[in-house]
Amino acid sequence: MSAEPTVEGLAEELSTYLDTTRINQVRRAYYYAEQAHEGQMRKSGDRYITHPLAVARILADLRLDHQSLMAAMLHDVIEDTGIPKDALTEQFGEDVAELVDGVSKLTQIEFRSRAEAQAENFQKMTLAMARDIRVILVKLADRLHNMRTLGPMPYEKRQRIATETLDIYAPIANRLGMHSICTELEDLGFSSLYPMRAKYISKAVNKLRGSHREIIEEIRGKLQEKLEERGLPGRILGREKHLNSIYNKMKFKHKSFHEIMDVYAFRIITDTEDDCYRILGAVHSLYKPLPGRFKDYIAMPKANGYQSLHTTLFGMHVNIEIQIRTEEMEHIANNGIAAHWMYKNEPSNVTSVNQARVDRWVKGLMEMRERADDSLEFIEHVKVDLFPDEIYVFTPKGRIMELPSGATPVDFAYAIHTDIGNAAVACRINRNLASLSQPLQSGQTVEIITAPGARPNPAWLSFVITGKARSSIRHVLKTQKRAESLELGRTLLKRSLKGFGAKLADISDAQKQAVVNHNQVNSFDDLISDIGLGNRMAYLVARQLVADADSDGLEASGDERNVDRTPVTISGTEGLLVKFASCCKPIPGDPVVGVMDSGNGMVIHSDTCSRLPDSDEGRARLTHLKWAKDITDEFSVELRVELERQRGVIAEVANAVAMADGNIERINVEDQNAKFGIVSLVVHVNGRKHLARVMRRIRNIRAVTHINRVRH
Ligand code: MN
Repeated sequence: MSAEPTVEGLAEELSTYLDTTRINQVRRAYYYAEQAHEGQMRKSGDRYITHPLAVARILADLRLDHQSLMAAMLHDVIEDTGIPKDALTEQFGEDVAELVDGVSKLTQIEFRSRAEAQAENFQKMTLAMARDIRVILVKLADRLHNMRTLGPMPYEKRQRIATETLDIYAPIANRLGMHSICTELEDLGFSSLYPMRAKYISKAVNKLRGSHREIIEEIRGKLQEKLEERGLPGRILGREKHLNSIYNKMKFKHKSFHEIMDVYAFRIITDTEDDCYRILGAVHSLYKPLPGRFKDYIAMPKANGYQSLHTTLFGMHVNIEIQIRTEEMEHIANNGIAAHWMYKNEPSNVTSVNQARVDRWVKGLMEMRERADDSLEFIEHVKVDLFPDEIYVFTPKGRIMELPSGATPVDFAYAIHTDIGNAAVACRINRNLASLSQPLQSGQTVEIITAPGARPNPAWLSFVITGKARSSIRHVLKTQKRAESLELGRTLLKRSLKGFGAKLADISDAQKQAVVNHNQVNSFDDLISDIGLGNRMAYLVARQLVADADSDGLEASGDERNVDRTPVTISGTEGLLVKFASCCKPIPGDPVVGVMDSGNGMVIHSDTCSRLPDSDEGRARLTHLKWAKDITDEFSVELRVELERQRGVIAEVANAVAMADGNIERINVEDQNAKFGIVSLVVHVNGRKHLARVMRRIRNIRAVTHINRVRH
């Protein structure tokens, strides 16, 4: 390296905002550290003191106070040279010694990964931060310089430090509003962790930048012209997308590289707040603003103090994102909490309205030690990024919802409102359609799509994790089961009554009550529900209902064979109480019968199923069914395909099913011998005709020697 940075270079920069006495204190800390680290080298071969000096330099760029800079100089002294804290207190005072001690303690905490970011360690960190927020600022600068000089470290160590940086330190920087440091940490972390991916993305970005240059320059020129025409001050910056953020958008938001890059982003920095709004008007007159995209963060600053105007224009056949802000807002947007010290050291700015707000914000953080509640609140805020046991997601309107880790969109829906959970049919995560069972992640925006009359699916119980969702689903299913059992029971009872030449409507209330009493149930509805559930036979209840009330008892006459053969119509979508047998897997078109399963309603079997009773008496209890004409549902059917083994034949089978509009639910391959194999398939079809089409397609494959439908 040519000119090694020196403390004098730093002193020169400090002279722009610190007085001589303070600069000399920083100098003294430098010489002290230089002596303490004497003889120590960095992996790069540089003298060790170059590191603390560089850390101080980073903090000087943030215009931090002299104590932070002194702590930066001394930050590795306790840890690496064995000089005790007391010695530092004596030399540099309590504040600086405390800062150095705080940074040393943070250094001892090793966060191996997000999962290992233990509560205890995290607490140590936040406590250190709460004592003096400058501790974390020095630590972030330390980490930033270490990341910049990670190269010579052994591979393992590089991986660990990069992971820790992405998982712990970048999120903290983000939380403190220190955007510049956060993005640099992220990009450095990403490049060390995934060097190849970083290289490819950066290559692609450079290539694209070349082809975009013309249009960018043209837009920039137009914007510049417009500002000049209206006499508005402002410098126009193009905004670069960062590698890590491009990668994350591709990976987590499933966006294509071009989707991400086809947005042209500019920032206009101007003098005053009023100028911001004037410039907004000017750019809106230049290109058409997109409706709903204007955001006024000047009037309504973000929680971390961020202020800016955002708008999106449509011009030159592309979308142009524009941010408009003052220099001061820009500084705060980039440096967040660290910006506080800059303004503290520049009395000319005290009039700024923003100053008061930043002060309040910092004061709030500083007071955390005294006010336990606020401290916890702050920990909660940082925890969002660091802790895996809770996630925070957003409603489309931006409301934040806290859920346990592993929560799904169904849990989210019930957390908003029971009615939304009950009527949920689909969801969008970050505007993309997603499965209702997919576990959510912090920061996602979740939108639940509901349909009137939709009902919870019993399968949801297998993946929801919140108590509220679970109990709500159970409750609805119970109610639904009751409604369905009444409906099915009534259908079965009416059919049985018909066999006796009677109608339910003609049965007197007195007769119903007599049957209710005889069966010792609470109501006639309970009786019907029992029939639907399969706990009672419709035939017996019907016989009791038609029995002559005057004759000796309800068990009276009636021919056992007097069973109505009118089939009950099945449409395939009956719900909880009608199930299709998994043994014979009947599909529309197959002759079917229903078997009442005690407590569970009706199970539909193919009428040739081997599991059906053989005896006449047993068969008499079966319900005769017929299929509705307009069935659109899909049914599972199992196929067994014998074929000659050859390359690509499984793909051919799968393709044949797809060509016949069938969906494969499962495919299994058994090798019979070297020459022949058996493929067993479960496919979804909507009936026998559809099945025939699927089978024909498969049979047409040259290698297929035999195909049949399997029923157990
Ligand atoms: Mn260090």
